[in-house]
Amino acid sequence: MQDPFDQEVKILEPMEFWKDFFENKFSSEVRRFVRRYPSDRSLYIPLSTVVEFGTNGIMYAERLVNEPERSFRDIYDAITHYKLIKKNNEVLPVHIRFTHLERKTTVRDLRGPVHVGKLVSVEGSIRRTASRKERLIEGVFRCTSGHRTVKRQPYSMKEIPTECSMDGCRKKPNEFLETASTFIDSQKALLQENYEMVNPGSQPESIEIELTEDMIDSLYAGNRVIVNGILKRYQTASSRTSTTYKNYIEVNSVEVTEKDYSEIVISEEDELIIRTLAADPTIFTRLISSIVPEIYGLEDVKEACMYAFFGGSTTETSNGVKTRGSIHILLIGEPGIAKTDFMRKVMVFSPRSVYTSGKGSSGVGLVASLTKDEFGDGSHTLEAGAMALADKGVCVIDEINQIDTKDLSLLYEALESQQASIHKSNIHTTIPTRCSVIAAANPKHGWIDDFLPLKDQIELPGPFLQRFDLIYILKDEANLEKDERIIRHIIANRSGSGIEKFKPDIEPELFRKYVALAKQQTVKWSKPADDEVVKYYVKIRGTRDKTGNKPVPITPRQGNSILRIAEASARIRFSSKVEPEDVRRAITVLDACLRKIAYDPETGVFDSGPVTSGTTKKQGNLIDDIFRVIKDIADPETGWAKESLIISGLAGRYSSEEIEKRIEFLLHDKSGKLIQPRNGYLKVV
Ligand SMILES: [Zn+2]
Repeated sequence: MQDPFDQEVKILEPMEFWKDFFENKFSSEVRRFVRRYPSDRSLYIPLSTVVEFGTNGIMYAERLVNEPERSFRDIYDAITHYKLIKKNNEVLPVHIRFTHLERKTTVRDLRGPVHVGKLVSVEGSIRRTASRKERLIEGVFRCTSGHRTVKRQPYSMKEIPTECSMDGCRKKPNEFLETASTFIDSQKALLQENYEMVNPGSQPESIEIELTEDMIDSLYAGNRVIVNGILKRYQTASSRTSTTYKNYIEVNSVEVTEKDYSEIVISEEDELIIRTLAADPTIFTRLISSIVPEIYGLEDVKEACMYAFFGGSTTETSNGVKTRGSIHILLIGEPGIAKTDFMRKVMVFSPRSVYTSGKGSSGVGLVASLTKDEFGDGSHTLEAGAMALADKGVCVIDEINQIDTKDLSLLYEALESQQASIHKSNIHTTIPTRCSVIAAANPKHGWIDDFLPLKDQIELPGPFLQRFDLIYILKDEANLEKDERIIRHIIANRSGSGIEKFKPDIEPELFRKYVALAKQQTVKWSKPADDEVVKYYVKIRGTRDKTGNKPVPITPRQGNSILRIAEASARIRFSSKVEPEDVRRAITVLDACLRKIAYDPETGVFDSGPVTSGTTKKQGNLIDDIFRVIKDIADPETGWAKESLIISGLAGRYSSEEIEKRIEFLLHDKSGKLIQPRNGYLKVV
């Protein structure tokens, strides 16, 4: 505030101050606004320009935050009285909107006693938007004697005055004069905390906000925003007699976070550290080892997640066909492998991330949905799902197999085209879902059988699996040596002796900054890198057998995965060009992944079967062969076939372990085609 000893400072009256401000500090912005009127109806003022305007500026900026209603009255009074914003000598009906408030808060930290009536600045995401409505702000009512009574209206319900404004009149003014009353255009929306602000495991909090006039339809569900406005209390119509109130924000201005990840502050010092890291030849292993170090192993999965965080670039051909840059990963894991724990922890390494579980959420809940009456006023609401809220970040979806198959189809567009189209009830819109998805699924039977086709082990359709660049199967393998290392890891973690040991090389906060900075890098392809891709692609496609009997090698879809991973690799190095080393890195990752899920080590041929249709040719053949042999050797009367004979009948082509495992599976298969009528005997039904 003002220095009482400084006699030079003259404290201005509010209206004088704002006259001075608009005429001497903000005059060129005012002129620009007047030129643009009426296409622009709001004059945006960064609060810092008020703060910087002398000692009075600091004082009036402070007053604006603490007594916003009174301050706005002063401002509009000054504009009208001194004709500060005029065209052809007419004062323009301008909306004054303040932006860039110094103190930001979160939805969670808003406290009624502290913040109600104050100008607050809240960061978050738009979760829902309702359709435009007209809201009564000043009602005119008439009594039977014809006297008019004007009543300001609260936010959520109509209040009819109890007595006539005319002195001595005892009649009730209960006739509402709609045409004489004042309405504003209003749109309700729901502002929700960003997921990365919330501790893993807890739900983000939200608050209702009201957008008015020219701010309507300026936001869509999924937008990352800073909302500046006055925190107010209201009661719902149904809770009129209750003593509890809800809060909402009467929005004065909204800042859509324009720059990607602008919520992440990267100082010059940070940038220097990150660029030094990027130049380190061991940066890849350093980053990988920093991801969830408290969970042992899973190096290949952690590496895949690293590429998903950084991502490739979205490309658009001249005819408008877009290819996504986001890298999607699917983990299929047995219950014992701390999958959920990993999923919850991995999200902290992305500058923007949303965690959700397929349990209890539908496909629409993951993408975007149109619902009715969320705000209790009958309007349609557009709601952003997890993928929309994770736009330009990472969406972690646990237990994706719990989502209904028909809802899964809604995810196809969101995963591949990176948007969600809504065409319903006169609402036609698309919501961007430009995020990488790291999803996890449980195997159908609770465990994974190496010898069984992938499609029989998970409840996810082939076309859905194809959307994932990398699929990992995580087995809870009984391995004494590994178990010992894991248990030592756990003990070290718990006893505290591991604190030093498992302290990540690169802390999550720095990791996030690294990703945010690297994602700003646009990457181009170099001729040698192009050649490297072609070389690999031709070689691998060349393994295809001309007769068509051999499995089909990798598809162009997987070729795109190589491009994306290579681009992510270039970004990690802060290189503007994709080089052969990036392509080789991508090939190694994809190759290792394919080898596990689709490579037939016996024939040495890649089989895209598991990814494209969920089965491999060879596995399909074994099942057919078992049934064929049973048919051949079964007792014609009982249909029984001796198991040992079946195994010896197939011995030349399959190992007995393989056959036994498959028989075991078929016996527990839902289809029930194979039964065991007696120990050692099998029968086809
Ligand atoms: Zn009256």
